[in-house]
Amino acid sequence: MLVVALIFVLAIVLVTIGVGLSRRAQRSPRPGGEVPGTTPPPATVILAPPPIEIEDDAVLDADEIEAIVAPARLRDRLGKSRAAFARLRSRPRIDDETWDELEDTLLLADVGVPTTARILDALRERVRTERLGDADALVEALHGVLTALLSDGDTSRALVSEAGEPNVWMFVGVNGVGKTTTIAKVAQREAEAGRRVLLAAADTFRAAAAEQLAHWADVVGARVVRGQEGADPGSVVFDAMTAAASRETDLVLVDTAGRLHTKVNLMAELEKLRRIVERTPGALKEVLLVLDATTGQNGLTQAREFATSVDITGVVLTKLDGTAKGGIVLAIEAELGIPVKLIGVGESAADLVPFDPEAFAGALLDR
Ligand code: GDP
Repeated sequence: MLVVALIFVLAIVLVTIGVGLSRRAQRSPRPGGEVPGTTPPPATVILAPPPIEIEDDAVLDADEIEAIVAPARLRDRLGKSRAAFARLRSRPRIDDETWDELEDTLLLADVGVPTTARILDALRERVRTERLGDADALVEALHGVLTALLSDGDTSRALVSEAGEPNVWMFVGVNGVGKTTTIAKVAQREAEAGRRVLLAAADTFRAAAAEQLAHWADVVGARVVRGQEGADPGSVVFDAMTAAASRETDLVLVDTAGRLHTKVNLMAELEKLRRIVERTPGALKEVLLVLDATTGQNGLTQAREFATSVDITGVVLTKLDGTAKGGIVLAIEAELGIPVKLIGVGESAADLVPFDPEAFAGALLDR
């Protein structure tokens, strides 16, 4: 009897252990996913961007995606100047030291002396009329001042083109600033938008420049017109315009030389190219000066030199990532009155973005 009772108890214990094990096995997660119908353990920290709310059937086009992604990228890349403005915010009051630190911060961000003075004057006025008391409010007001300065006048920042004729966008600037890379990025965007693009390699002084352009033309599916090394850049532009007219082209992007024996020669050459385009059926819609933001105030000197000889319609400011501090944008606009139309924040095609004053001021000031 005792033996029978012992066997019975042992059987119950074994059954209980078996059921327990099978339940535990069900609860343990499978690699790569949760078990359906079970509640996962509480989440730790999920670092994800806030969801982008779009309608169920909405499809974002490249521009819309860029409008969401670009400001984040810009903020990321203007880290140095942003850190300085963030430190400024933490000051408890607006005193002489705060003003001195603000002035230093603007100068260190490459804003330049005249534009810094102009910004500080406008800001003092706001602090007085709005009775601002702490540095945080000061930086908020600075955002307004910078945005107003960048939006002064109603110059459009959109690149100009018209349907029905080859539109010409000419890129000028000294060697190494990123002209060819910028042309490649612009070509890619425009080709993706369904436009027929032709690249004109009018920098015939460097064989490598034409090679580089031909390579990019290949990558983005554009046509390229190039001459022999040392050929007359004018003849390359003329041939490119002839090809554009005969083979229905929407856009001709002209790469130009960045260095000749003298500055006078360089400027005369650019003027000549402009006249050649104007004599052809194509229309010169943009002369874009490409500047390297990492050269700071030197970029401003370059811009001034080009602007006195060639009619510049806009600036493309490259390399705003890296060691650039960003304030040069304000100096170019305030001192030269040339709109910054595009900014380069990296080396890929997606890293060329339209310049947006408000987003830029926000990114610079850590807002
Ligand atoms: P070009 O002589 O004016 O035609 O200059 P390139 O287009 O050859 O560019 C010179 C260098 O700058 C290359 O290594 C490019 O990859 C780089 N570059 C161009 N734009 C940018 C940018 O926005 N950010 C960074 N980090 N590099 C860039």
